Amino acid sequence: MGYLQNVKENLQKNSSSFDQIFFQAVFEVLDSLEPILQSDKVYEEFGVLERLVVPDREVKFKVSWFDDSNKVQVNTGYRIQFNNALGPYKGGLRFHPSVNSSILKFLGFEQIFKNSLTGLMMGGAKGGSDFDPKGKSTSEVMKFCTAYMTELHKYIGPRVDIPAGDIGVGPREIGFLFGEYKKITSRYEGIITGKPYMFGGSLLRPEATGYGVVYFADELLRFENKEPFKDKICCVSGSGNVAIYTIEKLQSFGAIVVSCSDSKGTIYDSRGLDINLLKDIKFHKRASLEEYVLTHSSAIYTKVEDYPDGAHEVWTIPCYGAFPCATQNELNINDARNLIENGCQIVVEGANMPSTPEAIELFLQEQIIFAPAKAANAGGVAVSNFEMSQNAALQRWDMDKVDESLRTTMKSICKRVYLTSKDYGVDGNYVDGANIAAFKRVAEAMIAEGI
Ligand code: NDP
Repeated sequence: MGYLQNVKENLQKNSSSFDQIFFQAVFEVLDSLEPILQSDKVYEEFGVLERLVVPDREVKFKVSWFDDSNKVQVNTGYRIQFNNALGPYKGGLRFHPSVNSSILKFLGFEQIFKNSLTGLMMGGAKGGSDFDPKGKSTSEVMKFCTAYMTELHKYIGPRVDIPAGDIGVGPREIGFLFGEYKKITSRYEGIITGKPYMFGGSLLRPEATGYGVVYFADELLRFENKEPFKDKICCVSGSGNVAIYTIEKLQSFGAIVVSCSDSKGTIYDSRGLDINLLKDIKFHKRASLEEYVLTHSSAIYTKVEDYPDGAHEVWTIPCYGAFPCATQNELNINDARNLIENGCQIVVEGANMPSTPEAIELFLQEQIIFAPAKAANAGGVAVSNFEMSQNAALQRWDMDKVDESLRTTMKSICKRVYLTSKDYGVDGNYVDGANIAAFKRVAEAMIAEGI
């Protein structure tokens, strides 16, 4: 049996069936590595794969707090420190009822490769809790964040592990987490990124993931000699941080973004989405997208219950570019078929692992340009790294410097992924290109640092 197959079987043998989503992420990477493992036996000799698929550390803890009616609530907190070969652990925190250790292991594993692709000094980690900030008062969110940090602070530090935001963790939660860390330790240091600008955040961090997605996609179209986004119809799923800034940047490139979604439904506005209204509904009111049609009566709102069988409304709309920016496994094989039938030319992942393996296979088979998340959405963590640099030097970069550095980073990731796919004989397969390029850097560091 080959090295790859051995590692996969051992991983499955030593994990529970509950780890399905983690296996999906690991197998996608491992299956890409065949060409590099064949060409150099050093990875097998140093047991790189066996070491890479097991987290360095998994921390799981109880988070108890009082809700507004003085009732005790108990949640589970996690931090998965996956690999620090390239730098201190780095990766976001997710607060969502679906959070469990399998989801966080999948996200932490992906993060190792994403961080590697940036070329910056960052290892991979992920954390969070099954706490749901939705429907909670600000005081309840603060009490939860305080309790969560009471435990988490033992495991993080500016040269150890630097968390950030993710689903359910925005500037408000980051502020409470930072405030509590400061209180417990009496240290004012950059232990978390995505902070509001007034106390150490970087300009453009909120926008970075979405803007980076579009910078990456624009560059990839250039490499592929395809028409740019100007005047092209695009569809985006989600309407959170990543989705909204993807829409904003696409619009600034002249694209007509006609659709976006949330967990309850989809908006279609043939004239192009009203970005200010979206920000008001989602960032300020934290309300449902259904509100969009109250002021824009020509737009159409479709509820989740009315989606076509086995498919998602947002991917039934004809478009040049599709940008899944909501959550994992939100674009399935039926959605892929609909997009292809309707003439979609490029799919760019803004969310982490939003496309199912079957959907990706179909895109590659049909030669649709497919940009995987770990390359396309690395702009957020890149600007987080710029935030760490600014904090360490007690400096502030201006908007132009951050934006220029973000764009340069996304262009260089794109070039590295493109050239790697050519070097290893998998031209046009940017899943393999990204996985091989990212793996090489991490694996070489792991070998050089010894067992
Ligand atoms: P947010 O919490 O800001 O937004 C998530 C959005 O997705 C919300 O609009 C939510 O709807 C929507 N959503 C959730 N589930 C579904 C679903 N099943 N169908 C349709 N919409 C859904 O999260 P982010 O924008 O920060 O993160 C989105 C994705 O991007 C995640 O995969 C995350 O891991 C990834 N990512 C985020 C980065 C960042 O910098 N924030 C960096 C890199 C990756 P509702 O409003 O109803 O809750």
